[in-house]
Amino acid sequence: MATRAGKASRLGEFALIESVFAPLAKDYPLAFGLKDDAAFIRPRAGRDLVVTKDVLVAGVHFFADDPADLVARKALRVNLSDLAAKGAKPIGYLLGAVLPKTLDLKWLKRFAKGLAEDQAEFDISLIGGDTVSTPGPLTLSITAFGDVPRGAGLRRTGAREGDDLYVSGTIGDAALGLAVQTGDARCPKKALREVLLDRYQVPQPRLSLGAGLLKHASACLDVSDGLAADAGHICETSGLGAEIALGDIPFSDAARFMIDRSPGLLNRLLTGGDDYELLFTAAPGRARSIRVLSRRTGVPVTHIGKMVAGSDVRVLTGSGRTIAIERAGYTHF
Ligand code: ADP
Ligand code: MG
Repeated sequence: MATRAGKASRLGEFALIESVFAPLAKDYPLAFGLKDDAAFIRPRAGRDLVVTKDVLVAGVHFFADDPADLVARKALRVNLSDLAAKGAKPIGYLLGAVLPKTLDLKWLKRFAKGLAEDQAEFDISLIGGDTVSTPGPLTLSITAFGDVPRGAGLRRTGAREGDDLYVSGTIGDAALGLAVQTGDARCPKKALREVLLDRYQVPQPRLSLGAGLLKHASACLDVSDGLAADAGHICETSGLGAEIALGDIPFSDAARFMIDRSPGLLNRLLTGGDDYELLFTAAPGRARSIRVLSRRTGVPVTHIGKMVAGSDVRVLTGSGRTIAIERAGYTHF
């Protein structure tokens, strides 16, 4: 237990903002060192502002004893992933920090360190926020801003019948990482276990891929609710169905190892959330450009299926059988 002197609340709201948060805003002149009522964003000519928000609650989206820097990076990255899915370039973000009075200052400093690292990696700056205390669980909310060429931002809608369906990276690692962390599944190989946990705790926002897709994709989203549910979102908004070839879905070595041991996990891979990969559609004529883009950005992209007439997401096995998806993604209510 830390002493009372170690509590973040001891500092008081303004000293906390100045010592912990203001350093994260130093590279963004129009945030005025977090000493004004609000920051300014000066939109570039011919661009649309892209805005997204995610809320993370301790005990729901992360574990209270997760390392603070990893919590910070996940909180920022899930927003960056939304920007990536729109093809946007990051600008800045607002942080809503809802802190229990008992929170250690050390925790908060480590949290800020995680933010600083990812700000540098993804070229984004803290530009403002709000800091309040709560008798409830630690809650963090980030609102991120980015921009895209006017009218060109990617949407979930826009897929056409006959378009190819692609996904970046690998699918299901984060769901397995969560299962391993909660003890729901066991991975006896340490190296693979760490891969899975890392994929759950620190998603990779696919910003360079998303920006490149502005020219090629007909629809795009980031996989946060699970591959099956998110393919369903493209189908709903585009008024189509999708056929996905099970054998083409990219699984990591770690995920394959786990499915080989317990085939029952397959359903969880397809319906579990938190992949934060890009799922997108493109006309067949774009196939070559997409391969080139994948090589240029270093982000693996796999063709997994096609958009078809209808409204269902069908996952087909090699023998042409359709497999039933038991649960279509995580919902809070
Ligand atoms: P006001 O009372 O005018 O709403 P605050 O006192 O809440 O302003 O905040 C003062 C300044 O500190 C503002 O620029 C605000 O954006 C910034 N700020 C407060 N909390 C945070 C935070 N958690 N992260 C980043 N900036 C913050
Ligand atoms: Mg004010």
